[in-house]
Amino acid sequence: MMFLNYPNNPTAAHAEWRTFLEAVSFCRKYNILLAHDAAYDLVTFGKYRAPSALQVPGAKENVVELGSLSKSFNMTGWRIGYVVGNKEVIHALATLKGNIDTCQFMPIQKAAAKALTSDLTAVEKNNSVYEQRIEKLYLALTELGFHTEKPKGTLYLWVGVPKGESSLSFANRLLEEAGIIVTPGTAFGDNGEGFIRISLSVHAERLDEVIRRLKALNKRR
Ligand SMILES: *Cc1c(COP(=O)(O)O)cnc(C)c1O
Repeated sequence: MMFLNYPNNPTAAHAEWRTFLEAVSFCRKYNILLAHDAAYDLVTFGKYRAPSALQVPGAKENVVELGSLSKSFNMTGWRIGYVVGNKEVIHALATLKGNIDTCQFMPIQKAAAKALTSDLTAVEKNNSVYEQRIEKLYLALTELGFHTEKPKGTLYLWVGVPKGESSLSFANRLLEEAGIIVTPGTAFGDNGEGFIRISLSVHAERLDEVIRRLKALNKRR
């Protein structure tokens, strides 16, 4: 199985349709199942629309895509998502799930169905809030000399740590000296070394305080 996740947590990277075209063809050639975790497919900014792996012609032969309502519909903790794509894989998953747990509480299923068939204006409203937060923090971080790219989707900024720091040492310093909690990149695997992930789940005024503290920390260095 090949597992992809775009827009990506933790790196906030996005993919274009071509990436899926290549991945689907590659997987088809080597008889690999492609599972695409599309948890952030609706959490996108500006003109960018996250493509689905299932847009590739014939993708249902070897692709499943998994969605979650946790982020796009603020249903985090309600534990509901879905899988679409290859029939046999979905059937196998249903058999497995049916034997290891029970179905989700019916009102949550109904709320999810309502959300997924809605006109998505609520999602757009959420996205514009996230976009404003990202814009604010991105500008401040860039001014302070941090290396980061402005994401086209997700709730995260993936930020390079200053020279001479490791992911963990910098995350610890932010916590101990500035009271800011971030996730060290290495929490997601060795390849996350050199980065921290900032989650934008707090409101704009709180981010102003984060920026104030980062500036103070920068002066002390
Ligand atoms: C949040 C998230 C999910 C969805 O998790 P739930 O269990 O539905 O809350 C899936 N994949 C990634 C990468 C996520 O960040």
